[in-house]
Amino acid sequence: MSSNQTCLVTGASRGIGRGIAEELGRHNETIIVNYRSSEAAAYDTARAIKDGGGTAIPLQADVSNRKEVEAMCDRIHELVGPVDVLVNNAGVTVDRTFSTMTREEWEHVIDVNLGGVFNCTSAFFDDIRESDDGRVINISSVVGQQGNYGQANYAATKSGLFGFTRTIALELAQTESTANCVAPGFVKTDMLEDVPEEVKQKILQRIPLERFAEVEDIAGIVRFVASEDSGYMTGQILAVNGGMEW
Ligand code: NAP
Repeated sequence: MSSNQTCLVTGASRGIGRGIAEELGRHNETIIVNYRSSEAAAYDTARAIKDGGGTAIPLQADVSNRKEVEAMCDRIHELVGPVDVLVNNAGVTVDRTFSTMTREEWEHVIDVNLGGVFNCTSAFFDDIRESDDGRVINISSVVGQQGNYGQANYAATKSGLFGFTRTIALELAQTESTANCVAPGFVKTDMLEDVPEEVKQKILQRIPLERFAEVEDIAGIVRFVASEDSGYMTGQILAVNGGMEW
């Protein structure tokens, strides 16, 4: 990774986002730790990065709210200048079998998981286009590749990121900036905690590596995608799922 990059990781207060923020922070970047409501956890993430010698700034914004994202963008520009690496990580689930899913449950997941990606990519698009090593990294899911029982809304958003990423990759290509997707399998975070134990056991049986991912398994791949070593890779989906078929 080239030095002095500024990286924004959305949803970095907990889980995969926190792991990514800490990993990028270990590589001398300035990390913006975005969060929606977990202020204490976001400050804790920032403190962990600073304790490791990095620079970190926690900033609140609900990614589904365009005004809040634009205010965050202005604040980042005031504090540290343009963003080089945008990691669109913030995401939510509201699981229901399709026959019981309400329009509101559908829209909420779309608003955060796709609307949030639109808002953030739009706000920082010029920064990334003009950066020497601009990166858009979208955190999708194996569920976007395979579908998953009870997750029609979530799967739609995570598949949607594939088409979005490939298109943004084409539109950035002339500038040498890149856009890629990282599609994790099932990762040990609060999101997985919500899954019933018997469902987790069934999922485990489908993972050739016979374990759920640690946050670090995903963060290391994102660090590579964020680095200048990945400069000739764009529009790709990196499946990090313990060998699950898709
Ligand atoms: P998590 O533990 O539930 O953490 C979610 C993070 O997103 C939190 O930091 C949360 O902030 C933030 N967030 C949620 N809604 C937001 C909003 N509207 N605006 C800003 N931030 C928001 O989730 P995770 O498991 O780490 O998942 C992170 C990403 O990886 C998601 O996109 C998810 O779809 C994807 N993923 C997860 C798995 C898995 O098995 N865990 C697998 C594949 C892909 P607050 O703390 O402030 O609420």
